[in-house]
Order: sequence, then C-alpha cells, then structure tokens
Amino acid sequence: LTKASLDNIKQTDGDLQAFLRTTDDQALQAAKSIDQAGDFNDVLAGIPMGLKDNISTEGQETTGASHILEGFKPVYNATVVKKLQDAKAISLGKLNMDEFAMGGSTETSYYKKTTNAWDHNKVPGGSSGGSGAAVAAGQVPYALGSDTGGSIRQPAAFNGIVGLKPTYGRVSRFGLFAMASSLDQIGPLTRSVKDNALVLNAIAGFDKWDSTSVDTEVPDYTKNLGKGVKGMKIAVPKEYFGEGIDPEVAAKVRAGIAQLEALGATVDEVSLPHTRYGVAAYYITMSSEASSNLQRYDGIRYGFRAPDAKNLEEVYTKSRSEGFGNEVKRRIMLGTFALSAGAYDDFFKKAAQIRTLIIDDFNKVFDQYDLIVGPTTPTPAYGLGEEIGDPKAMYMGDVLTIPVNLAGLPGLSINAGFSKDGMPIGLQMIGKAFDEATIYQAAQAFE
Ligand code: GLN
Repeated sequence: LTKASLDNIKQTDGDLQAFLRTTDDQALQAAKSIDQAGDFNDVLAGIPMGLKDNISTEGQETTGASHILEGFKPVYNATVVKKLQDAKAISLGKLNMDEFAMGGSTETSYYKKTTNAWDHNKVPGGSSGGSGAAVAAGQVPYALGSDTGGSIRQPAAFNGIVGLKPTYGRVSRFGLFAMASSLDQIGPLTRSVKDNALVLNAIAGFDKWDSTSVDTEVPDYTKNLGKGVKGMKIAVPKEYFGEGIDPEVAAKVRAGIAQLEALGATVDEVSLPHTRYGVAAYYITMSSEASSNLQRYDGIRYGFRAPDAKNLEEVYTKSRSEGFGNEVKRRIMLGTFALSAGAYDDFFKKAAQIRTLIIDDFNKVFDQYDLIVGPTTPTPAYGLGEEIGDPKAMYMGDVLTIPVNLAGLPGLSINAGFSKDGMPIGLQMIGKAFDEATIYQAAQAFE
C-alpha cells in the first residue's frame, strides 16, 4: 500500500503539486517494520497519510512553505506525529501550504502552487491546500492540517472533503509552527466522517508540552456515529446567509439544512450579531500574535541566512527581507503596529473586546441548541491568480470560519453538493466546546 501510494503520488502530483516532498525511504522502511512485526491492531496501522509542512518531523525537512526555513530539519517530532507513529501510521511526506499558514489559497507558498483536485485551474484553498487537494485526489486517505482562521475547513470545502478544526486545547500544538497561538489547532482532513473521527481519536488528548492543552477525557469519537439527528436542535445564523454569500452556496447549504430537518432535526433561525466584526478582530489578533511568534526567524537559529550579510544587523535585515514573502511581511508590520504603545488600545485591545462579544454570541445560542449550521465559505474555489493580488478580498473569504477560532469552538466542513461549474460547496457544522462527537454524529447522518 505504501509503495502503491508513493507511485500514485508520482503520477498525479505533476498536475496537483500537493506534496512539497515525499519521504519515500522512511515511509517504506516504516511499512516494512510494521509488516515484519505483523502489528496491525491499531486501525491506522500501515495506513499512509500526509502532513502539512508546518508540523515538525524529526530529521525531516519542515519549512512552513517559507524560504526562511529552507533546509530546516527539526530535532523533535510534533506530539501529533509521535501519536500517529505510535498508532503505526505511515507518513508519505509533507504537504504544501501558504507560507506560515498565512493565506487562503496556498499561493503564498515560496515553493509551488497547488491546484484544486476538481479543476487544476482553480485554487485548492488554504492554508492547508496541499492537505485538502491530496486527500480529495486520493493520494492519501487522510492528512493533517492546521486551522487558525479556517485553514482546515476552507480547503476541505473547496475540495469537497471532510475537515475538522477541533476545540482549542483538544489537540496538542507542540511541534506545530506557531502562527497565532491563541487560535491555532491541528486537525484531520479525510474523505469520510468516520475516517475523520478515527484520526481525531488518535491525535486528541492532553499533552504536558502544550500549556494550552486541556486535561479532559478523550471520548471515542466514533461513539455517536449511526445515531442520526432525530431530536437534535440546530441553529442557523441569519448572518451566515447575508451579503457576499454566493447564491449557489446559499442554495446548496439551505438544501443541506432541509435534509437534516427531514431526518428529524429541528431547525431555527438565530442571530450571531457580531459575526461581521470577526474578520477585523481576527486579522488584528492573528497578526499581533504572529508578529511576536515570527521573531524567532532571525537568520541565526533556523534555516536560511542571507549569504552576503556583512554584520549582525544585516544578518537580521537581509535574512528576513529575503526569507519572508510579502504576505508574511504584511502581517508582521500590521501586528507590530497593532501592539505598539500608541495603537494598542485602539486596535489590539478593541479586537480582544470584540472577541469576547463573539464568544458571548455563541454561548447564547448554545444555551438552547446542539449545533450551528451554515456555509463554510462565501464562495466555491476561485481561479488561480484571481484573488492573490487583493488581500482584503481574500480575507473576507474567512468571514464564516474565523468566529469559530476566536471562540475556540470545534467546526467541521462537509460537502453539500456542487456549483453549476462543478466545484464543491462546503457546509459547516459548529459545535459546543469539546463536543466533536455531536458534530460527527450530524455530519455522518448528512453524508
Ligand atoms: N486564511 C486565513 C489567514 O490567512 C486563515 C489561515 C489559517 O487558518 N491558518 O489568516
């Protein structure tokens, strides 16, 4: 299976460009030792997968798709990698992404442009675009991505697969390149809901190496599968069908909601009134945290150093000028500004206050409902090159995924059908904190 999968990647990745690099020798070696031991007790044993390139793998190049980390080989594994290795999973390599997970189309990668699995002229979404495309194209049955403002759910929507952002604190961030530490979560992208639950089973849990990891019991996430949605109370926020939502997206998602209702769920319209402030609050919060996290890339400690720097000052400035791409620089500048003495109260603090209002919006709805359902993204996947020159348009594409990160909640995207020109449309299910099992239950009924 490992060999066949690696061969298949060689045949299909010319068009897709999902993998930054495959690790054939290590994968085949791992497969051989599992074969020899005959140890297939774990459901994931011997099953190939791929990892987003911001997840550290010991001794294997991990770049976050940035030039500044070219050649960098981490000296330890991320906790999720260790857990998957313990489950005898086999990594086939590292998947393309937006540079440091900043973007929504995988076009800010320093290395290559990945294409959508359904149309090679369209973007795969991002920032986990390599993960989304690889799973949808059948290169791997599952991949891990990371989601700070939508980066698992949006590429899942754009490629017609299942992507889950777990509750903040559910999956260890240890060994994940920090983008915005209060928002980042690792999660699975799969072709079915059950697969997704099985992978979450393997990667979830408390980790003493991540101080924001939460020490609560990990249920069996497959426990509610097959139970259906009879009696489930579903809330549909009116703001999720407002301005800027493509009519085809709205129609397919509404049809999906009607299907849940036909299966026995009760559906009511609700309001999440602060939704429209989410994008602004997110881009300030995320940039501020990112500008601080990215200080470590100074040309000294990791990866790339400008070859012609003549003194220490130049090592910093030239390595960063040459090592970071435009989107990363934009966010470092925005975040540094938002945190500066004169701007802090007007920007960072305001964003934090809005974040609290958004959390309150969700709390009110979850007092009465089990699940919130709406679209994952305002539009299906667009053409390569179409939005990359217009950051504000790109940022607005995150309007429906961002609030979930700001509130730390779990969210899943599942396919709800296709647009007239054949592109997948994602339906998003948002759950209560640590209630991924209910999301899976409803998503599987929908499947
Ligand atoms: N598209 C969003 C951004 O560019 C989300 C990124 C993410 O979730 N990593 O910030």
